[in-house]
Amino acid sequence: NAVRQQAIAAVEARVAPPISFDPGEEPGSIFGENVFSLTVMQKRLPKNVYRSMLSTIEKSAPLDPDVADAVASAMKDWALEKGATHYAHVFYPLTGLTAEKHDSFLDPVGDGTAFASFSGKTLVQGEPDASSFPNGGLRNTFEARGYTAWDVMSPAYVLENPNGNTLCIPTIFISMTGEALDHKTPLLRSQQAMSVHARRVLELFGHTGPDNVVAYCGAEQEYFLVDSHFFLARPDLLNAGRTLFGAKPPKGQEFDDHYFGAIPERVLGYMMDTERELFKLGIPAKTRHNEVAPGQFEVAPMFERANEASDHQQLLMTTFKSVARKHGMECLFHEKPFDGVNGSGKHVNFSLGNAALGSLLVPGDTPHDNAQFLVFCAAVIRSVHRFGGLLRASVASASNDHRLGANEAPPAIISIFLGDQLADVFDQIAKGGATRSKERGTLTIGVDTLPDLTTDPGDRNRTSPFAFTGNRFEFRAPGSNQTVAGPMVVLNTIMAEALDHCATTLEEAVAGGTDFNEAVQTLLASIVADHGAVIFNGNGYSDEWPVEAEQRGLKNLRTTVDALPELITPEAVELFGTYGVFNAHEAHSRFEVGIEQYVLAVAVEANLTLEMATTTVLPAAIRYQTELAGNVAALLAAGVDADRSTLETVSAPIGEMRAALVVLGEALAQDHVVDPEDPLAAASFSRDTVLPAMAAVRTAADTLETLVADDLWPLPTYQEMLYIL
Ligand code: ADP
Ligand code: MG
Repeated sequence: NAVRQQAIAAVEARVAPPISFDPGEEPGSIFGENVFSLTVMQKRLPKNVYRSMLSTIEKSAPLDPDVADAVASAMKDWALEKGATHYAHVFYPLTGLTAEKHDSFLDPVGDGTAFASFSGKTLVQGEPDASSFPNGGLRNTFEARGYTAWDVMSPAYVLENPNGNTLCIPTIFISMTGEALDHKTPLLRSQQAMSVHARRVLELFGHTGPDNVVAYCGAEQEYFLVDSHFFLARPDLLNAGRTLFGAKPPKGQEFDDHYFGAIPERVLGYMMDTERELFKLGIPAKTRHNEVAPGQFEVAPMFERANEASDHQQLLMTTFKSVARKHGMECLFHEKPFDGVNGSGKHVNFSLGNAALGSLLVPGDTPHDNAQFLVFCAAVIRSVHRFGGLLRASVASASNDHRLGANEAPPAIISIFLGDQLADVFDQIAKGGATRSKERGTLTIGVDTLPDLTTDPGDRNRTSPFAFTGNRFEFRAPGSNQTVAGPMVVLNTIMAEALDHCATTLEEAVAGGTDFNEAVQTLLASIVADHGAVIFNGNGYSDEWPVEAEQRGLKNLRTTVDALPELITPEAVELFGTYGVFNAHEAHSRFEVGIEQYVLAVAVEANLTLEMATTTVLPAAIRYQTELAGNVAALLAAGVDADRSTLETVSAPIGEMRAALVVLGEALAQDHVVDPEDPLAAASFSRDTVLPAMAAVRTAADTLETLVADDLWPLPTYQEMLYIL
């Protein structure tokens, strides 16, 4: 087949692009070079303006308009020196993607000339047309305007492009009435709520410092690389991000020879180039390695404050994609681009803390510190047990459904892995508190006999969706293509609730005259008693776990359609409302947008399946069938005995495919518009009727791929896509 053979030939003829930089360059010399950082501000702003900015950033003080003007002017000069011609408010709509609206710095003056201008007002606020972004009923159709507003906590940066550079300003995106149309606004709100209650708990432990408590996030990003020639010859990869057809390759990942193996030279060149771009943008990319599946890799930046980490994560994905194209490859972030080999996740490492106190999820040096650590851990246990469904909903998407629970990623059941040592401590607490610890003597919380808790994560459990790893929790369910803002909003909010509960309980006990240590002990015991069911240290991939989880009353929300309604349960709406993260409207809008995106994603895939099967796969199979029929006829005409078995073997799946296409066509003929009165109906139809109809077409096609003559097969195969880089 011409297309496929040409693709292979083109990959072979590839000439590596020249490396455009000195590979010996010190990473530190370019780090943050394109960021309007605090250091740059300090250099370029008058002292009083800089100080005012600093207190806005660090203490959330309101931004003075005069200060904004001064900052805008310095920012413009800096950006012009960096070759920027335009500025853009960058925002994060509910599609999960990044959006930007560019404006030129040039302002016509009226006499036919123009000069570069950028005022505080244009820095701080923008008005993009919001009508093309999903809003889940938040925006009235007559009011298309949305507002973007500068998030001073996230620094502005210059994005380089061969055709001209752009000053990018991270912003929130809200409607006329102030409702959040994006992922950043609720992240900032949830961060604030969590800080308030974390500080109440800290105060009880004697920490009265002025610093906010922030959530930290370190995201490990998995991705696949495919040569562009193959990518372009696969309409499914191009349009849906995943292969809708493809027989399993003779060699998959079973040899375990890829994970942590030598990185192919071509890929290493790409990684270095990408990292360099990330460094310029102040993104601390640190770890890189091969992943489990062939063609799969991982990058992990150092953790940062969640808001910054979230912006950086989005920027990291766009950078990986654009640099890949320069290197003749496509970077795939889909959760399951290839059936039969592992999919890609984005592990969200999560902790709380601040500069003064460090991570609050690290066991301390003294029993007092350890008691504090245990309260924060208990808060995690309570929050994940009460609102595991929300965590599941925060990672629900059509594409992540292919990954969760497929024995390569955590199951859809949200449980916590604590590790032996910590599990033992909580076990003791549950059994009445002051009893014996496994390896050392008696255990009483808050007094001198509390054992040292080492920070050594000890055993690693890869099958748990939410695992303690020594100084943080690792949430492993997020998909590779998802924004980390969704899970971080939920984590912050449910932690706000749990810390509020802890602080209130302790405050009341102490006010009532109870000894503080005793109050802590009672609190921890009651949390373990009420919420210990969420702790599971066993094998999350085993067949027994779902059965046991059900007995424990843990939810198993297998698909997006099961998970999304969690966003609008009365408990969830009350939770989000109480902590000022979403009002009821906003919570519903997230649910509606999630459903809409699910239905759309399945519909695109279904249409592609129908089209590719009809115009590409079936014609190839029929050509081969005709050739075989010709062979039988020729043999018979020559008076030779004709063996029809090959013809029959090929004809059977052709017949199955025709039948499956009829079923899929009928499913697609039905209305796919989500009815606002009953959004789940369309989503259930996608899941229960459309997806199985697609699967039947695929089964026939994949059988044909193993039968049809190779020179007739039109689509690049798994072998080619996964192994030729
Ligand atoms: P592993 O493969 O062992 O899970 P990686 O090095 O691939 O570890 O990634 C670990 C991630 O966790 C990194 O992004 C790292 O910065 C982050 N991390 C480390 N400590 C913390 C912490 N206290 N809070 C949040 N994230 C953290
Ligand atoms: Mg890792």
